[in-house]
Amino acid sequence: MDKMPLILLGTLMLTLIACGPAGEGAAGAGGDRPLVVATTGMIGDLAARIAGERATVVTLMSSGVDPHLFRPSEGDVRHMGSADLILYNGLHLEGKMGAILSRMERGRLVVAVGDAVPKERLLELPGFEGQYDPHLWFDVQLWSLTVSPVQEALAALVPEHAAELAERADTVRRALTDLDLWVEEQIAGIPTPRRVLVTAHDAFGYFGARYRIEVVGLQGISTAAEAGLQDVDRLANMIVRRKIPAVFVESSVPRRSIESVVAACKNQGHEVRIGGELFSDAMGPAGTPEGTYEGMVRHNVRAIAEALR
Ligand SMILES: [Zn+2]
Repeated sequence: MDKMPLILLGTLMLTLIACGPAGEGAAGAGGDRPLVVATTGMIGDLAARIAGERATVVTLMSSGVDPHLFRPSEGDVRHMGSADLILYNGLHLEGKMGAILSRMERGRLVVAVGDAVPKERLLELPGFEGQYDPHLWFDVQLWSLTVSPVQEALAALVPEHAAELAERADTVRRALTDLDLWVEEQIAGIPTPRRVLVTAHDAFGYFGARYRIEVVGLQGISTAAEAGLQDVDRLANMIVRRKIPAVFVESSVPRRSIESVVAACKNQGHEVRIGGELFSDAMGPAGTPEGTYEGMVRHNVRAIAEALR
């Protein structure tokens, strides 16, 4: 099959994102302003809020894109090649981008925002010594630690605007503190026995640890391996035994794995409903409330609290 339409589509999507809330002005080289390329929407949103008008921020992964499986298109590689700064999550979230990111380190600043989180606050992956859960943005407090490295990297590009960037970074930190408290309140309102979050993949570990909700994922930390029949049965048995009322699908993971869990529960005479779609590894579409980090968190927490209360 001809690859051209896909490449064109990729370029078009990038252009749309560049013109969206992330960056108001010119797409591409960014004119006079430095060009910042972010891998995930969450990082792009943070960078755009701190940069304001001082940089053009382009996000590579649009809504619904799974970062574990994402491979940059030719257009993405071109954008990275002309970027002044590349921001990525790290901790192997961008599992297929390791080679390209290290290649890009020649000639520009490349920053893994996850490096700002102290090792002792990371969750080690069971069975993988020295490897850590990359889904930092689910703990809003932890995510606020990534504000400083983004602010510093931007200030290195436009040192004459450092004070302005620092002011906006403080505003972002304050908003994240408020958001963190709100999430804590919402989850604390769920009766303890029902405070269980069942999702398609293990993205919510930090969420569970910070907001004290038990998290059970059908798949491992990465979506690279598909869930097997045994996983489905194991999870269904647990849901039936504990009479859990709702499970959740994720926008960036195919629904069929969690739907097979719902069917397996039904076979055992327990109706478990799908409590809604959570934005786990990708934000909602640009221009919608869920297309921002804060909107994504609020959507997820409302869906969880309403379905389990
Ligand atoms: Zn994930």
